[in-house]
Amino acid sequence: MMLTMRLVIIGGGILGTAHAFAAIGRGHEVVQLERETEARGATVRNFGLVWVSGRSAAELAITLRSRMLWEEIGGRVPGVGFRPAGSITLVRTEAELAVAEAAAAGPTAAERGFELLDPDRVRALNPALRGKFLAGLHCSNDAAVESRQAMPALRAHMEATGRYSFYAGAEARTVTGTAVIDDRGRRFEADLVLVCPGAAHTGLTRELVGDIPVRRVRLQMMQTAPLGESLTTAVADGDSFRYYPGFAGPELERLNREESQAFTAARHKMQLLCVQRLHGGLTIGDTHEYDEPFAFDVDEAPYEHLTAVAEELLGRKLPTVVRRWAGVYSQSIDPTAIVTRAQAADDVWVITGAGGRGMTLGPALGEETADLLNL
Ligand SMILES: Cc1cc2nc3c(=O)[nH]c(=O)nc-3n(C[C@H](O)[C@H](O)[C@H](O)COP(=O)(O)OP(=O)(O)OC[C@H]3O[C@@H](n4cnc5c(N)ncnc54)[C@H](O)[C@@H]3O)c2cc1C
Repeated sequence: MMLTMRLVIIGGGILGTAHAFAAIGRGHEVVQLERETEARGATVRNFGLVWVSGRSAAELAITLRSRMLWEEIGGRVPGVGFRPAGSITLVRTEAELAVAEAAAAGPTAAERGFELLDPDRVRALNPALRGKFLAGLHCSNDAAVESRQAMPALRAHMEATGRYSFYAGAEARTVTGTAVIDDRGRRFEADLVLVCPGAAHTGLTRELVGDIPVRRVRLQMMQTAPLGESLTTAVADGDSFRYYPGFAGPELERLNREESQAFTAARHKMQLLCVQRLHGGLTIGDTHEYDEPFAFDVDEAPYEHLTAVAEELLGRKLPTVVRRWAGVYSQSIDPTAIVTRAQAADDVWVITGAGGRGMTLGPALGEETADLLNL
């Protein structure tokens, strides 16, 4: 191993930034290129949830490791806005309740911090939940960060080492040997190149590694004006059980068999997830669209469904919706692959496909790559 290596990292999202953070932490020099003026992909469009609750048992260790790293990073870099707020998944039917009960009694419940709460205990923990539900599955290990301010905060922290520079508006066009050339013709020499392009599977990514086993998934999101009160935990609805492997089992099979999802929720493969931003507004989603070409505009029906469910759980009207957007993430096709690392040359890697858990797992994936490459 060389004492100090020069890394060029392509992509300014959480994967690029977390890999830069891990390399800087190990004493190396990093140049990071982002083609937009700021990270623009999934990272700035997500909920910022560090989500432990529904991860499969096989992914639990790396998820808990990443959550711990986020907490550590949050202590050193307050600008990432880390808060260990936990989450409550509210159940509204007997079949959903059975899934929550099974999760709370499962072998990994203690590691996840699961506890089943009756409505009074739910409200004691999160007084803003004044609506209708049978119970809540509390996950004390879930957490949140402020994705849109976290990347600049992490960069400022790395810049202070004197070993890190960030080039905004710099699209990497070619990798020759281990030199990266951007769209202004600038040449960045490196000992190691890590390409973290998010859902940009074409262009440089395809040129380097061809068609890797990843697909793209599109989600719709919205954000409200400030709630005017504190939502002390993140909130999910029982539909979320349907999308997280950690809840698999006979109870979930029964839920899927006996209770069809509401028409709009099923059509758009929806769950309700809701988290309060530091400015008081709520980030609410989501939908899942798998078939390309994706719509270029947002569909109103899912927003009506999300608003109705959120209002039922909160027992009040939502504040005005002030923003709506869609985001696309890259997901590894093999459901057991946490991320796709494709080697283009001796010291050139493409790393993407973290799916709907890339924000959660970013720090641990950065660390894992650094270990694998002996940094
Ligand atoms: C709506 C939504 C909600 C989500 N919610 C959560 C959540 O709450 N928790 C969670 O854990 N995960 C969540 N995810 C998933 C998570 O956001 C992603 O897995 C993660 O952000 C992927 O990070 P990335 O760095 O790989 O990609 P991106 O964030 O997309 O970043 C890639 C960057 O690379 C740049 N780039 C591409 N090509 C080049 C090039 N040639 N030169 C220079 N720059 C280039 C792009 O401009 C982009 O900024 C969500 C995703 C979406 C879309």
